[in-house]
Amino acid sequence: MSNLFSYWEQKSFLSGFDVIIIGSGIVGLSASLYLKLKQPSLKIGVLESGFLPAGASTKNAGFTCFGSISELEIELESGSENEVLNRIDMRWRGLEKLRKNLGDSAICFEQNGGYELFKNKEADFAHHCIDRIPWFNSFLKPVIRKHDIYAVSSDKIAESGMKGIFKIIKNKYEGQIDTGKMMSALLSRVQGLGVNVFNNCLVQKIDNASDYKNIITNQGVFKSRSIIVATNAFAKNLIPELDVTPGRGQVLITAPIKDLKIKGAFHYNRGYTYFRNIDDRILLGGGRNLDFKGEETHEPGVTPIIQNELEKLLYETIIPRQKPKIEYRWSGVMGFGKDLSPIIKQISPGVFCAVRCNGMGVAMGSILGEQVADMIHI
Ligand SMILES: Cc1cc2nc3c(=O)[nH]c(=O)nc-3n(C[C@H](O)[C@H](O)[C@H](O)COP(=O)(O)OP(=O)(O)OC[C@H]3O[C@@H](n4cnc5c(N)ncnc54)[C@H](O)[C@@H]3O)c2cc1C
Repeated sequence: MSNLFSYWEQKSFLSGFDVIIIGSGIVGLSASLYLKLKQPSLKIGVLESGFLPAGASTKNAGFTCFGSISELEIELESGSENEVLNRIDMRWRGLEKLRKNLGDSAICFEQNGGYELFKNKEADFAHHCIDRIPWFNSFLKPVIRKHDIYAVSSDKIAESGMKGIFKIIKNKYEGQIDTGKMMSALLSRVQGLGVNVFNNCLVQKIDNASDYKNIITNQGVFKSRSIIVATNAFAKNLIPELDVTPGRGQVLITAPIKDLKIKGAFHYNRGYTYFRNIDDRILLGGGRNLDFKGEETHEPGVTPIIQNELEKLLYETIIPRQKPKIEYRWSGVMGFGKDLSPIIKQISPGVFCAVRCNGMGVAMGSILGEQVADMIHI
C-alpha cells in the first residue's frame, strides 16, 4: 500500500515526524497541544483509526466531575488516601487545564453542581454518606482549595420534580460541558497549530528497532522519532502487557422536554448511573454494573438489559410525570484496570503511553496528555 504514495506524500505526510501520537481522543490531542505550545517547530502527527474518534472522548456524558462521596468511598476501599487524593488532584487540575486551553464558552462549560441521589430505600446508605461530608470536605481541601465542597441539598428534591428520592448531596464545584463542542474546539486548536491529524488510520504495529520508528498502519508506514500511545481501551492491541480492560458505557437522550426542571450533573448508584440536562433534553447513561461481563467489549452497541433499566429510572424516578421519546442511543468504550490510576510511562526507548482513564478522562485527560508529553525530550 505505501508504494502507492507519491514521493511528495512520502516526504511531507508520512515521514520526518518528531512525534506521532496514536489515538485522537482527549489525551492524544492534549498531548499534541502541549508539545506544540512548548516546541512549535516539532512535526507532530496524530493517527486515529476512526472516521471520528472511536473510543470515549466524543461519546461521553460531559460531566466535569471529580467524585461523589459514594464513589470516593469505593476508591478508598482499594487505595490509600494519598492515591485517591492524587487522582482527585489530577481530575481537578485536568478540568482547570481543559477550561484554560479551550475557554469556557467554546466548551459550553456550566457549573450547575453535581448531585448524588439516594432513593427512599437507601436511607441507611444516605445517612452514612451524609455523616461523611465533614470528613470529605477537609480531605479534599488541599487539592480543591475550597470550603464546603459537599452539602446536603434539601431544595433540589422538590425543585427537580423527581420521585422517590430520600436525600441529595450536592457538590457545588462540579459542572458540565458540551462534549462535541469541546472535542471540536480541541481538534481545531491543534490543527491550527500545525498538528496533522489522520483519520481512518489504524495502527497495526510499532516497529521501534531503529532511531526512526516505523508505525505500520492500514494506510501505509509512518516514520517518527518518538511515539505516544493514547489508545485507552484499545491499549493492549499495541502493548499487550498493559493492564487495561475495555468497559462499554451506554447512553440515551430524550426528545426536548417542556419546562424541564432537571439541571446539573446527577450521579446515582455509586456513579454507575448518571444523567444531566442538555438542550432541554435529558442525557442518561451508565448501568454497566447490570452486565459487567457483557459490557467488557470494544464493540459499539446498546442492549435491552441496560437500556430498559435506564428508561425505567427515567420514567419512574427522574421525570415521573412526562414520557418523552428517546431520540438518541449510543455507546462508547472506556479503559479500566485493577489499579484505578492511569498508566503514564515509557514502554521502550522513544515509545510512551498514557492510557486507562478509568471512566474519568474528561476530567483528567488534559493533564494526562501533558504529563506524557513532558516525558519526551527532543
Ligand atoms: C458513555 C460514557 C460517559 C462518560 N462520561 C464521562 C464524564 O462525564 N466525565 C468524565 O470525566 N469522563 C467520562 N467518560 C470517560 C471519558 O470519556 C474517557 O475517559 C476519555 O474520553 C478517554 O480519553 P482517551 O483519549 O484516553 O481515550 P479515547 O477517547 O478512547 O481515545 C482513544 C482513541 O484511540 C483510537 N485508537 C484505538 N486504537 C487505535 C489504533 N490501533 N490506531 C489508531 N487509533 C486507535 C480510538 O479510535 C480512540 O479514538 C465517559 C465515557 C463514556 C464511554
